Amino acid sequence: MYKTQRMIAAGLCAGLFITITLALMMSCQVKDEKGSVNKKLKVVTALFPLYDFARNIGQDKAEVFLLLPPGLEPHSFEPKPADMIRLNQADLFIYTNPAMEPWAENVLKGIQTRSLHVLEAGRGIAMMADQDGQGRGGNKAGHGHEDGHRHDHDPGGRDPHIWLDFSNAEKMVDHILAGFIEKDPLNRDYYQRNADAYKQRLTDLDRQFRKGLSGCRKRVLVHGGHFAFGYLAERYGLKYVALSGFSPDAEPTPANLVRISKILKANDLHYLFYEELLLPRTAEMVAKETGASLLLLHGAHNISKEDFDRGVGFITLMQTNLEHLKRGLQCP
Ligand SMILES: [Zn+2]
Repeated sequence: MYKTQRMIAAGLCAGLFITITLALMMSCQVKDEKGSVNKKLKVVTALFPLYDFARNIGQDKAEVFLLLPPGLEPHSFEPKPADMIRLNQADLFIYTNPAMEPWAENVLKGIQTRSLHVLEAGRGIAMMADQDGQGRGGNKAGHGHEDGHRHDHDPGGRDPHIWLDFSNAEKMVDHILAGFIEKDPLNRDYYQRNADAYKQRLTDLDRQFRKGLSGCRKRVLVHGGHFAFGYLAERYGLKYVALSGFSPDAEPTPANLVRISKILKANDLHYLFYEELLLPRTAEMVAKETGASLLLLHGAHNISKEDFDRGVGFITLMQTNLEHLKRGLQCP
């Protein structure tokens, strides 16, 4: 009887031991799985180009999030409480520069965490002054953009669209890479390789633009949108004329509409470019008046939900831009 009890007890102990071991193993497994998820660098970005650069550098070792909901035209963007929570839990927050995302300053004041590394991707990249005051759209009171970045706190009237010069984009990739390495030095080589490969693609893109835009019959780029392509035009020797650099609540001035129409006619241009994510009502008006056709020129501030879901990247958007530019400017 006593022996039987001992056997039962031993059996129970063994069973319990196995159960506990199994439970521990399972809990270890869960922990491991969670651990590996947690090991991914949490990166929050403020603008589509930054998002795309960061996901190309981080690949499967980072969770990269774009703060702007896809399709949202950035000027209506206001960070929500959920965005603040996300930033609080992130390792890295990347924005372009204070001229592009003036809201970033206020948002960061609300961040409690000390582990969040804040990175200005455009740090040290000289911003161009408005050409002939075009960025101000003739409105000296302020020259915020329809798409949400107001420059009126920037007394120098600097153009924040630095990513549309691909040599600047390469510098931004370098800055983002440095942020990744600072937060996750163990994967330094991995991030470095990815950044190098991406920069090579940007170099190739630059070469394609230079070659593609070298022999065009027309050298005037007329844009029925806000002043965004100054860097691109400068780099490839085009004259850039934008309809507006107006503040979100302003309309393009009638004088500017007349000016754009005159330039189209004087240069015998058959195409007017329009910008992404906004109904091109004004551009349509000018096109109708002048007989020009419309072509999209994507500034890549943000992308549509459809493009986002398809995984469209910055380089693809720019390659489409090049095709449209070649058509619009009659390039060989
Ligand atoms: Zn813009």
